[in-house]
Amino acid sequence: MTFHQQLLADLVEFAPDAMLIVDASGQILYANQRVTHVFGYEREDIVNRSVDLLLPDRLRTRHAHHRRNFAQDPRTRPMGAGFELLGRRMDGSEFPLEISLSPLRDGLAAAAIRDVTDRKRVEQELIHAREAADQAREEADRANLSKSRFLATASHDLRQPLQALSMLHGTLCRVDMHPNGREVLAQQGLAIDAMKRLLSALLDISKLESGAVNPQPSQFPVRQLFELLSTEFSTAARSKGLALVVEQTDLSTCTDQSLLEQLLRNLISNAIKYTRAGTVTLRATPLGSGMQIEICDTGVGIPADQQAYIFDEFFQVGVARNTTREGYGLGLAIVQRIAKLLGLRIHVQSEVGKGSTFTLQLPRAEAVKSDCPVDTPASGNHLTRHAQSGKILVTEDEPSVLRATRLLLELEGYQVIPASSREEALLRGREHPDIDLLVSDYHLKEDQTGLNVISGVREQLARNIPAILVTGDTSSAMRKLPADRQLRLASKPVDAEELLTLIGELLNTHRAT
Ligand code: ADP
Repeated sequence: MTFHQQLLADLVEFAPDAMLIVDASGQILYANQRVTHVFGYEREDIVNRSVDLLLPDRLRTRHAHHRRNFAQDPRTRPMGAGFELLGRRMDGSEFPLEISLSPLRDGLAAAAIRDVTDRKRVEQELIHAREAADQAREEADRANLSKSRFLATASHDLRQPLQALSMLHGTLCRVDMHPNGREVLAQQGLAIDAMKRLLSALLDISKLESGAVNPQPSQFPVRQLFELLSTEFSTAARSKGLALVVEQTDLSTCTDQSLLEQLLRNLISNAIKYTRAGTVTLRATPLGSGMQIEICDTGVGIPADQQAYIFDEFFQVGVARNTTREGYGLGLAIVQRIAKLLGLRIHVQSEVGKGSTFTLQLPRAEAVKSDCPVDTPASGNHLTRHAQSGKILVTEDEPSVLRATRLLLELEGYQVIPASSREEALLRGREHPDIDLLVSDYHLKEDQTGLNVISGVREQLARNIPAILVTGDTSSAMRKLPADRQLRLASKPVDAEELLTLIGELLNTHRAT
């Protein structure tokens, strides 16, 4: 045997797979060393015997069939493609195997046989793991869906009684009362405010989760938003002795303005809340072809190991679940949902005792000139309000809210014409053509909206009567409203003071013109 022949013989003899040479009748002519390892037979026990020896009894007919197929069309290929092949060891145990066949001369065939027990086991484990993961995901999705539904229903149903409560509270505050009673009322007011904040956070979350919020991107200068936020938060910062620094910027962005506003509002309010001394800074800087907005504070900071969790619902650093402190652990959950909805990246950098920086990456837009003046919130000049007069048509389909609103407005000196539907509002409009103002809930029964009520009564009386639309919808949805200087929005749950201020403003400007 030449060196090369020896090498070739060794290649077969010591191959990692069991190798057999079988003739057309299925008789084994050669077996390599590995056959012993795989099947447990000594070579002498199988050479010159039928290959059936290595198969479970029940599969022998099928194997003969495979063999005939191969003899008719001899080419290199896996045996029994698509079938699970099984082998039988000397001790009778069965195991999965793979066989590759190659035709040799004179109708002989070489078979390379591999025990795939381990591979099959791993495959099975993978399948089970995948099934378990799918099942867990389905369960989580189901749980999440029912949580969202519960959240949406509960917070929606809580809104009406809270609104009534708030109105009744506002009314009581206007009644002459013993100082002790005033103190109780003041505490009640704080509790109602806290409840309103929680409810509106829950509503925000459930709205964002339900997919009902559709971002409406537009281009706008960031300065416009910064000015708004600066006005809104300056008092809160000042009362804690903090400097609120809002850096000048000429950058413009393109995203949904009111959702971005809501996102930044949560971050700034946190920065102020978690800073005892120093500065809260709001700045926008270019970043590549985009831009970033940073909210930096010199506050308590967030431990590195907690930073991964702060965006979770109800998570508060250092506060066990079910215990309370200021806030509910929902602010950053809202921030994250809005960022996801707007496709913005948010990032936090923080060091305990030094402060935190929340960074938001946004697209940059060509500079836009803002023609419209910045919409600053109405100044609450309720102290200057004097005894009121005027006839107000209030349309509200929830009786408790209608009663509470009526009480509040009547106590303030207004004459109230109540209506619980669009039809009733039109009827009352005919009876009282001298109505000065309309207040209507947005969502009414039978698919009617407050907008229908307002336009219907205005049309009927052929006058552009000033009107207030009370709504729980997000401001971005409400942006679609037609521009109307005589129409104002009040968001639910309405604050008594806010409603009275709006009414006062609308009536005064209307009378002045
Ligand atoms: P909370 O209502 O408690 O403020 P958030 O979801 O807004 O809830 O924030 C979650 C937690 O992250 C907070 O309880 C607070 O511990 C931490 N956190 C958020 N913002 C800051 C910040 N600017 N500085 C320090 N800690 C912060």
